[in-house]
Amino acid sequence: MLEIQSKAIRIEEHGGPEVLQLVTVSVPAPQGNEVTIRQKAIGLNFIDTYFRTGLYKQPLPHGLGSEGAGVVEAVGADVRHLKVGDRVAYGQSPIGAYAEVRNVPADQVVKIPRGVSFEEAAALMLKGLTVQYLFRQTYRLQGTETILFHAAAGGVGLIACQWARALGVKLIGTASSPEKAALAKENGAWEVIDYSRENVVERVLELTKGKKVPVVYDGVGKDTWLASLDCLQPRGLMVSFGNASGPVEGVNLGILAAKGSLYVTRPKLGTHVATYAKLKAAAAELFGLVAKKQIQVHIGQRFALADAGAAHVALTNRKTTGATVFTLD
Ligand code: NDP
Repeated sequence: MLEIQSKAIRIEEHGGPEVLQLVTVSVPAPQGNEVTIRQKAIGLNFIDTYFRTGLYKQPLPHGLGSEGAGVVEAVGADVRHLKVGDRVAYGQSPIGAYAEVRNVPADQVVKIPRGVSFEEAAALMLKGLTVQYLFRQTYRLQGTETILFHAAAGGVGLIACQWARALGVKLIGTASSPEKAALAKENGAWEVIDYSRENVVERVLELTKGKKVPVVYDGVGKDTWLASLDCLQPRGLMVSFGNASGPVEGVNLGILAAKGSLYVTRPKLGTHVATYAKLKAAAAELFGLVAKKQIQVHIGQRFALADAGAAHVALTNRKTTGATVFTLD
């Protein structure tokens, strides 16, 4: 196969949304274990903004994005489970998903089940697999728990609300407006705290009749760290999985003893889908819930790839709900 010309987003320096440039790149023939995907939809994720600003670093220049869906256009010589023409998606890849055409390691790519659109798959793979490992691996929810989950109206958040409902778990969400709180409730949150106006710790104490929660899932980071610890039962688990408000830094471990022998973990998706077998098992569980309509994708915003900067502004200014996708013809 000859090289393919593709439009793609590149950054040459870290900074605001203005550093995102739409350029034309050459995509080489796939290596042995790669597939070439002509993409139909791309998922926007908060992690993309961390790579843009330099909070997370890769050698410059580089592309952006980890999540996408499309049609296999070519396969490397060693690829066994995919063929040309397959409808596929991935949620964990070397960054560079913001592109019309790209090569991805085949062991990070799954076939999209019948009945799931490209857009839905691009909105589900990173965010849905994240909820899979948070709820089924990091702290394996049994269905009897009451839990706290921050930013419940966001991309990961709305899937978490639905997954909790499917498990029978009472999810207390947080959100920054009445509209977002209502959306999280529609999607299965048991209760939602408007953390722009209400005291999270006091409300969690009220809602749990003083018991607090065994696990907090916190993707907000800096702004919610302390309140999250105060919502935990003795020996509870703080799952700090993101930095939407900035990273948690300078923690004195003694605080975990003082607040009741707490546990803390800082997980990432890559560890949990490190092999094709792990990815396949996690995706099967996710798409099983989608097939039963227990998880329905909420795409709150759509952008053209050329408007990636505007999409980043909307996400970081808290103007989005649910998933955001870039759509391609
Ligand atoms: P969201 O769609 O949830 O957007 C982030 C939300 O965070 C906002 O909508 C906003 O909701 C809330 N927020 C609180 N404070 C701020 C702030 N200062 N600036 C911006 N937003 C703020 O994003 P994603 O679903 O893509 O990701 C959610 C979190 O999960 C992120 O931190 C992300 O990095 C993390 N993540 C981690 C993974 C992992 O494996 N570790 C994998 C996937 C995501 P509101 O207005 O209601 O406060």
